[in-house]
Amino acid sequence: DLEHPIDNDVYEELTPLLLSMENQKKEKEKNEQMRKEFSANVSHELKTPLTSISGYAEIMKSGLVKQEDVPGFAERIYKEASRLIVLVEDIIKLSKLDEGGVGLEKEKVDLYSICEDVLIRLENMANRHHVSMELSGEKVEYEGVYRVLDEMVWNLCENAVKYNKPGGHVHVWVGNTLSGPKIIVKDTGIGIPKEEQERIFERFYRVDKSHSKETGGTGLGLSIVKHGAVIHNIQIRTDSEVGKGTAITLSFSKGNSASATEEQ
Ligand code: ADP
Repeated sequence: DLEHPIDNDVYEELTPLLLSMENQKKEKEKNEQMRKEFSANVSHELKTPLTSISGYAEIMKSGLVKQEDVPGFAERIYKEASRLIVLVEDIIKLSKLDEGGVGLEKEKVDLYSICEDVLIRLENMANRHHVSMELSGEKVEYEGVYRVLDEMVWNLCENAVKYNKPGGHVHVWVGNTLSGPKIIVKDTGIGIPKEEQERIFERFYRVDKSHSKETGGTGLGLSIVKHGAVIHNIQIRTDSEVGKGTAITLSFSKGNSASATEEQ
């Protein structure tokens, strides 16, 4: 028995407040946990290439390496250093997006030309993987951060090429639908198991770690996509079947399309 019994009305008013406080606390704890995991992952990911670089350099310095092996060692150092640069760049991009896109200017962009430009830049990689690429759809004007949208489309298309099979295909579609603009990146690649389809958007998460290392990924590409989607209010949908391929759809909110803004 309470000294001052709470009457029913107050109780009814308090319950949702208490619940929301509890939820906020849980959310805060989850964020804190994720931040800790992220720092631990970053340290690990940075340490691995740095350890190789200093190891190779040390052996070369010792003078024990035969002259003909020097280019091979230098190549390994170069590769690890390049990996480190991509990793640091991705971490910087993520941390900027993490701040909610502060300082990122939105402007009128054409989603079709972003996709066109990305596919041109990916041509060499696609040729190396023996993957063909195709773009269809229409011009779509949208109010967004050019650099971020370009990065998102690049990451999706690069994955569609990297996780494809020789002789495979990538089809990018951009257009307006009744529910708003969409970009669909579809590949005929290796696919993603159902239980991993949500996890791939987590930082540093990779389905097949050994394969990803070989393809030179950082495991941050899709989390950059996810964060970019948050600041633009874009919904992401993954449809994938192992062995058949993957389609990732970005659904842009109608209100943000440049034409909708003009109408208002
Ligand atoms: P990574 O740098 O490893 O490519 P991402 O964050 O871009 O990192 O992707 C995370 C993981 O999701 C990849 O390692 C891969 O296992 C899986 N993945 C992403 N896109 C595809 C795709 N189109 N087909 C199959 N697997 C994919």
